[in-house]
Amino acid sequence: MFPCPDNSKGPPICFPYWRFKGILYSCGPTGTEHKFIDLSRQAVVSECFPASLGIRSQALKLKFALPETEGIFIRPVLSQPDIIHGIRKLFSSQMDGNKEIQSFIGETTSIIYAPFHVINDNLYDSILDMPVFSRLSGDFDISGYPAEKPDWPITFIPALCPACGWDLAGERDSLALLCRNCDSAWHHRNKRLEKIDMGYIPGGSDNHLFLPFWMIRAGISGIALDSYADLVKIANLPRVVQDGWKDISFKFWIPAFKVRAQHFIRLATQMTLSQPYDEIKSKVPAGTMHPVTLPVTEAIESIKIVMSGFIKSKKNIFPSLIDAAITPESFYLVYIPFRTGHHDLINEKYSVTLNNNVLSTACNL
Ligand SMILES: [Zn+2]
Repeated sequence: MFPCPDNSKGPPICFPYWRFKGILYSCGPTGTEHKFIDLSRQAVVSECFPASLGIRSQALKLKFALPETEGIFIRPVLSQPDIIHGIRKLFSSQMDGNKEIQSFIGETTSIIYAPFHVINDNLYDSILDMPVFSRLSGDFDISGYPAEKPDWPITFIPALCPACGWDLAGERDSLALLCRNCDSAWHHRNKRLEKIDMGYIPGGSDNHLFLPFWMIRAGISGIALDSYADLVKIANLPRVVQDGWKDISFKFWIPAFKVRAQHFIRLATQMTLSQPYDEIKSKVPAGTMHPVTLPVTEAIESIKIVMSGFIKSKKNIFPSLIDAAITPESFYLVYIPFRTGHHDLINEKYSVTLNNNVLSTACNL
């Protein structure tokens, strides 16, 4: 919530907004574009309160709303999917004519309460210290709004391995928790810990950082991309298809961490075109690991965008890709070692480099 700047007017009315942050990728036959979206929408439809927070959600400092925080808290009515649906619609209606593929990737949503006061039956914005609407009507009535005390506990899910009871390890912001005792990985799903297949590609030593990737096997309706041979054909890789390549199953390799848009697509493309075929050890790597900050659902969401970048005969395949249904079949969390140089993280084997700064500035995405 935004702290109320002036407490002399008594406890504020706290009105909920959904804040949505994410990167919108749009790609057409000519290429991919992306833009960073950070906007807010009412979490209860009301004509009395401002439609959005405007730039305040970026400009003002926030604090946690706690049970002891004073004020009348209006209960959010719209759900997170309602808001995401609305935002998707908002942006898809802006394009007409050429069909495009659009994906929101790395999105985060949160509820922000903004403080208001009622003075002589008029609603005042407590941050701007002025009436919400310049025309005062004197008939604002708070009783029509559902209110609740913020008694939501800040939940800490016990970080014990559900399989063996050992302490789970993971950075504060990591979506994957690892058990070094029984070599398992877990993520939160439906308020409980669910096991995920995890492993690493060996090759690291002391000065390596393991970056997490989602290795995803998925069906794409209407497009044959099942084997390495299919990839060579679709991406027009400068290789002559060998006999056994039809039997090597194709997988997408998508970063499991947030990173700036252009690097995200580049890494996903380079790794997917490399199709690492090294043995994956089903163990927690012994070394420094970068936290998993991008859920697998978001990685799946990016598949069409990544594909549209590497398919070569755009005229033939792109129209099918727009309407294709992506059916994820399996996924695996794979840690890949990158040598830490002065400026770059490098994996020579797959010819992938990443500037150190790119990772360190990704925290606020
Ligand atoms: Zn365990």
